[in-house]
Amino acid sequence: METHGMMMDLNAGSGFLYGTSIRRSEVSTHINVLINAALVAKRTAQVKRDYLGASRIGEPCERKLLFEFTGAPVDRGREPDGRLLRIFDAGHVYEELSVGWLKLAGFDLRTHKRNGDQFGFAAAGGRVRGHIDGVIVNGPDLGIPLPVLWEHKSAAARSWSEFAKIGLQRWRPVYWAQAHLYMAYMDLQHCLFTVVNKDTQELHHELFALEAAFAQELSDKAVRVLRAADAGELPPRIAQNRDFYLCRFCPYATRCWESNP
Ligand code: SF4
Repeated sequence: METHGMMMDLNAGSGFLYGTSIRRSEVSTHINVLINAALVAKRTAQVKRDYLGASRIGEPCERKLLFEFTGAPVDRGREPDGRLLRIFDAGHVYEELSVGWLKLAGFDLRTHKRNGDQFGFAAAGGRVRGHIDGVIVNGPDLGIPLPVLWEHKSAAARSWSEFAKIGLQRWRPVYWAQAHLYMAYMDLQHCLFTVVNKDTQELHHELFALEAAFAQELSDKAVRVLRAADAGELPPRIAQNRDFYLCRFCPYATRCWESNP
């Protein structure tokens, strides 16, 4: 085979990459702009949900839930950016790792049906839906009868430590509500909630029982939101003024406070 020796850097010293107008110092930014744009385009192309996600019903503001359910555009500049979308993607990778670790430890954890679909449920004529992370149907003794719902999240070290210390209900009430609705609709009496520490790979698992009355409250709340949507009404705001902390972080704040009564 003929060889041509080392390739010469015809741009040596110029700072520009061969055949482009991109400076080496700008390569990282350039690539990230491309990745971010591709992630945002992919998300934009995804089919919008036409149902109320059961994972969201624990959201404290019913008006915000209605905006989500009806697909109202978020305020300008409040769309998820590339970094946030990468965090979502990384969450799926961590979930797969945790599934593998639990299976390795002997748990028969089912995450998908034979056809590859996630397990899930539909209620209220298909207008409330949820997809669970998995069900443990067999395995080492957990002190409760199986099967048990399995839900998973990943968190940075500080947040993970908080979860391990104060428990799911106080750490993330929306996840607590999600787990209860999933248990109720999947007819499961317990949930094992696993959170992986993204910085140290430590795991913490919380096991808790279904509180049926709480799940019923959440279900009633979902029905109120659906009824308001059908009637073309907006549920009341959660706060009296826009400075309320939940409103300050809400991606619909302008729509809520400036475009609606
Ligand atoms: S801005 Fe506040 S009141 Fe309005 S939808 Fe968001 S959280 Fe609810």
